[in-house]
Amino acid sequence: MTAQNSRQPVSEPTRAFAPGRVNLIGEHTDYNDGFVLPFALGLGCTATVVLAGEGWSATSAQQDDEVATTTCAPSDVPGWATYVLGPLWLLADRGVDVPPLRIHVDSNVPLGAGLSSSAALVCSVITALDEALSLGLSADESLALSRAVENDVVGAPTGGMDQLVSLRAVEGHALFCDMRSLETSPVPFDLEAAGLALLVIDTRAPHRHVDGEYAERRAGCEEAARVLGVPALRDVTADDVEAAVEGLDDDRLQRYVRHVVTENDRVLATVDLLSEGDVAGIGPLLTASHAPTRDDFAISVPEVDAAVEALLEAGALGARMTGGGFGGCVIGLLPTAGVEPAVDIVTRRFRDGGWQEPTGFLVTPGPGAHVVPA
Ligand code: ADP
Ligand code: MG
Repeated sequence: MTAQNSRQPVSEPTRAFAPGRVNLIGEHTDYNDGFVLPFALGLGCTATVVLAGEGWSATSAQQDDEVATTTCAPSDVPGWATYVLGPLWLLADRGVDVPPLRIHVDSNVPLGAGLSSSAALVCSVITALDEALSLGLSADESLALSRAVENDVVGAPTGGMDQLVSLRAVEGHALFCDMRSLETSPVPFDLEAAGLALLVIDTRAPHRHVDGEYAERRAGCEEAARVLGVPALRDVTADDVEAAVEGLDDDRLQRYVRHVVTENDRVLATVDLLSEGDVAGIGPLLTASHAPTRDDFAISVPEVDAAVEALLEAGALGARMTGGGFGGCVIGLLPTAGVEPAVDIVTRRFRDGGWQEPTGFLVTPGPGAHVVPA
């Protein structure tokens, strides 16, 4: 990262897009130094930066208020604006001379639905700033900055997967991420060639990331790793899992370990199948991932379980909750011809349950963050 931006302020807008994501498999494994397999949505956030004015301001097409500050440093702004101005504050704190500018964001990722509207927002802003200010950020620097915005500025204890995939996704591929080394490798994920579709059901049951529940799971996993004497639960293998579980007195921690260790194993098995072009073969792994998120990790809610059950009844090859949990979205892997009947069955189930009508849409793997014409 250069300490000083080398270009004179210009008034033309600079624009960048960054995607939201679906996590195909690997839930709550990222902060355990484990494995995840997300892919980028075609949906995302577009950030537009204009170097102008006297101060630093943020607007969002998804928010009514305009936020303007006279210093480029942490200040008391509404929650959403900390995601937008946070990158500026961190850059300034690291010695970058951030000129007065305006940032406008516009996203079509549903907010708070577990599809990572937050990483799409932060990564679009960072990509646009990098270009507008000629910062020359390396891939590692952009990643570290985007993670620091959510973890340190916003205060959400998320594990880093969302930013990694938003920045590095490759079109047509899922992104295998080793969350210890932060190395990524694209894995072909050609749904169309397999005659399949991936249906996302947004249950619209609210999900709360910054909430205590997510932090509690994270702290529980860290506590389990400490008791087991390993740096992270990544270091417990599937072969060792029962011995590890026996080494813990606390039933809650035993369940967390069982989920994380077996989930890492399922991610690796999914990568193997997709690498062989066997998209249909991953269905049972997706379904197998859902049960421990519900029973061991206890991060599901009735709407999510009902959507998974309805998708499986409708002929899905696999279905699971996706995202941090406590509401949000479910994915179902379906034969293309089975999508419409599946949506009907899920909708009927929600009506019977007296819940809000869910929304359903198909997704395919899109590209990661990039500058777009303004
Ligand atoms: P998720 O990332 O799964 O959508 P989070 O709770 O992590 O859920 O992030 C949602 C929050 O991110 C919103 O409440 C809002 O503060 C912020 N956010 C995301 N996209 C936008 C946007 N386009 N405009 C303003 N704020 C946004
Ligand atoms: Mg988020």
